[in-house]
Amino acid sequence: MKKLNQPIGGNDMPRFGGIATMMRLPHVPNAKDLDVAFVGVPFDIGTSNRSGARFGPRQIRSESCLIRPYNMATRAAPFDSLQVADIGDVAINTFNIDKSMAIIESAYDDILAQNCKPLTMGGDHTIALPILRSIARKYGPVGIVHVDAHADINDTMFGERIAHGTPFRRAIEEKLVDPKRMVQIGLRATGYAADDFDWPREQGVRVVPAEDCWYKSLKPLMSEVREQLGVGPVYITFDIDGLDPAYAAGTGTPEIGGLTIHQGLEIIRGCRGLEVVGGDLVEVAPAYDTTGNTALTAANLLFEMLCVFPGVKYRV
Ligand code: MN
Ligand code: MN
Repeated sequence: MKKLNQPIGGNDMPRFGGIATMMRLPHVPNAKDLDVAFVGVPFDIGTSNRSGARFGPRQIRSESCLIRPYNMATRAAPFDSLQVADIGDVAINTFNIDKSMAIIESAYDDILAQNCKPLTMGGDHTIALPILRSIARKYGPVGIVHVDAHADINDTMFGERIAHGTPFRRAIEEKLVDPKRMVQIGLRATGYAADDFDWPREQGVRVVPAEDCWYKSLKPLMSEVREQLGVGPVYITFDIDGLDPAYAAGTGTPEIGGLTIHQGLEIIRGCRGLEVVGGDLVEVAPAYDTTGNTALTAANLLFEMLCVFPGVKYRV
């Protein structure tokens, strides 16, 4: 049996020491022989308000140093059965959105060609579009679990079709996604028009506004989501601004009245059993993350995504 990568333990190197990789896993040049690759996309030229998510991948790696290999709540043991490593960052062109889209798409084609599943550290939410283009080329239209304060289904922003508020409009138009197998959770705040969230509903997407999540466990919702998404590939896309700014202030377009960390955990853990083929955690902007809590939360949520990938062993 091949030797599986393990995160470096705190007894071999102090947690604050060494070169920062995601979860202190090995840094390898590409996805060859990996089941899952952590990959950074330091792209933030699609943001509409505060920029700075380009620094997200580095900060998430740095804050991930405290994460240990076993999930004490679910008993997931991802490193007992999957080969996982950090393949570094995609070399986007920070002066050109269109060229960056092509660079990202091609980088994910390479990852998927190795039959490896990507777990992405963003970057702003624009990056979901090229990732989904690549994913859909391999798997066909996918189901999506989308956590966000925003629907990200604008047709254009300032006249542009590619920006961090448009990826799911494009993804649905391009049939990268099966809207009947898509759920958006945590949407809220203010819009350009009162019917902004109706466009995804008209496409068949289940929209769950934040208000419908207040004061509740989301376990019952997730059992409905598992039924809705059923069999077939699923992609998880988690915009950190889906969480309340009390928990995740370090982001570019914060909105009050958001989800709790516990609900974020319930959503991801509730994806267990779905055919997850990849995931991302986007919109962490470290400059506004004065405590490091936003990046810390992001790192943990990415670990939780890894724990629900097919093929993960659960210890009893
Ligand atoms: Mn978003
Ligand atoms: Mn958002």
